[in-house]
Amino acid sequence: MQQDAIGRSNLSSSSGGQLEGNLNGREGNETRPASFAKNPYEQKPALLKVLVIEDEENIIELIKLGLRYEGFQVEAVSDGQEGLSTAQRISPDIIILDLGLPPGSIDGLEVCRRLRINPTTQDVPVLMLTAKGEVEDRVAGLKTGADDYLTKPFSFEELVARIHAILRRQRRSSDSLQGDGVNEREGQVLQFGDLRLNLTTREVTRTGRLIELTATEYNLLHLFMSHPRQVLDRQTILNKVWGYDFLGETNIIEVYVRYLREKIEDSPSTPRLIQTVRGVGYVLKG
Ligand code: CA
Repeated sequence: MQQDAIGRSNLSSSSGGQLEGNLNGREGNETRPASFAKNPYEQKPALLKVLVIEDEENIIELIKLGLRYEGFQVEAVSDGQEGLSTAQRISPDIIILDLGLPPGSIDGLEVCRRLRINPTTQDVPVLMLTAKGEVEDRVAGLKTGADDYLTKPFSFEELVARIHAILRRQRRSSDSLQGDGVNEREGQVLQFGDLRLNLTTREVTRTGRLIELTATEYNLLHLFMSHPRQVLDRQTILNKVWGYDFLGETNIIEVYVRYLREKIEDSPSTPRLIQTVRGVGYVLKG
């Protein structure tokens, strides 16, 4: 069963729906290396570091080989505790974290939670791998601060696309803090009703009360507050917030909207601010 846990067929030339889905999904990916290369980071000789915390040997091997080929520096550990200490030591650019680590060690959710409360690792993006498919697991994973998740079996191409998307997002948000535009943005605040979002400090308040948001939640709210009362379709949201230019597992938007509502709405189950536009997307109203 473990052999099935990865899209092995994608490295070889064998058949299978997974591979087909992949090739279709790649259409949108073709622009990716070019846009990635435009980023100044790409010209630096330093390799981006990926830490893999995963106990399944075959997945580790696949990720290691593949990502090294893609130009990443990869370190892999199979234990949660070791993952935490390695993350501290090597300061990775991204962590790929398996949800189901072997019993006896701490599991993926706990690793993620501890990464997030440690000042050294709190901003390192985490891509969670999950063998199950249940939304509950995903929501739990995202609540502990994972930036994205990928369900096994996954294709290597999809993994790489996710990593690039997460890193682009990360850069975009750090650019908005430290980039050239910082002076003109200083003190700039978006306001909608009693919601305030400060573009410089990335602080969000509602009626003066500070609301703690993860980076992705902030980006999502930023998008809504930049386009108040405009219906944003799912493709636009996915593209602007996640950097995906293809529609993959789109329920990530629902998951994040739900979590954002829990933080900003008076009554998350009957949302007033972020309203669902059935079959289209969402709109910030009030
Ligand atoms: Ca596992």
